[in-house]
Amino acid sequence: MNHTGHIQRWDAPTPQDVGTTVEEFLRKLGGPTFLWLPGLDTTRTRAVSTLLHGNESSGVRALHRWIQEGHQPHVNVLCFIGSIGAALTEPQFSHRCAFGGKDLNRCFRVPFEGPEGAIAQAMLEALQHTQPEALIDLHNTSGHSPAYGVTTRNGAIQEALTGIFCDHLIVTDLRLGTLMEATETAWPTVTIEAGWAQDPQAHELAFRGFTRYALTKNFSDVASSVTVAHHPIRVELQKGASVAYATSPVADVDLTLPPDVDRFNFGTLSTQERLGWVGAQGLNVLWARDAAGENLTSTLFSVHNGELRLAHPSRLMMATTNSDIAQSDCLFYILPDA
Ligand SMILES: [Zn+2]
Repeated sequence: MNHTGHIQRWDAPTPQDVGTTVEEFLRKLGGPTFLWLPGLDTTRTRAVSTLLHGNESSGVRALHRWIQEGHQPHVNVLCFIGSIGAALTEPQFSHRCAFGGKDLNRCFRVPFEGPEGAIAQAMLEALQHTQPEALIDLHNTSGHSPAYGVTTRNGAIQEALTGIFCDHLIVTDLRLGTLMEATETAWPTVTIEAGWAQDPQAHELAFRGFTRYALTKNFSDVASSVTVAHHPIRVELQKGASVAYATSPVADVDLTLPPDVDRFNFGTLSTQERLGWVGAQGLNVLWARDAAGENLTSTLFSVHNGELRLAHPSRLMMATTNSDIAQSDCLFYILPDA
């Protein structure tokens, strides 16, 4: 293994090298790593990134299994494995970022501050040097959800890349500092949310998708029937507001959501269905922002006797049932039905 700068590099790992479990594999790596998988055609390279979030293991499980089974990709694949320290912190695969650290997938923009910023910058430099023909960033959702792709640029190639993994593609113009935003003009980039992090089916989907990604000669050969949805609205808790997950409103909490709120993911909610309960502050505890930064809370939601409802039928996505993620990142996204 080659240690230079903030990210180590490991060329052509063998099945014997990577250990029998994904945990053993990650312990051997120890920190952010590039794996180089040489292809049959060594003139072309594709890139994969995963484990930017330490609690989202489907992508790294797929890479570990692929190497362990001794496959060779059609073209070279450069694989980046990010938050290994966070992933190995007990209980394993439960920490999104390192203790006291920043969310790595919010650090792919200037000023590249702190340890996470340095890793992000070093990763982008290595990608620039490699000039891959595409980049897939593999994630998981923190609630039950069908798999879907996310892109900032919608085109035939982004749809084909998504179709390698799943059937839904979300086009977003939100700017958060993610990897995908940093490379969107350099080469086709799609984030794949493989489904719930705890779901073995998500691991299987990531493995099958990675296999197709690595073996496909040309993306234009991929037959896909991807459904595209545009511009989800990100719904966050206002700073300092509290959230609880329970089957009835929790006293002194600003927002109570049902423990199975993730069952709404990708389903359409009518204006009659109860999404949760708000406390004394009403809708002021929500912050629903579009790409222009405008707060759409009063347009999207209504309150009836303390019940939180939608003002218009809409689809929900990325609803989490993890109160830490709900508090630090976001509650869910709304896809207004056209
Ligand atoms: Zn993620």
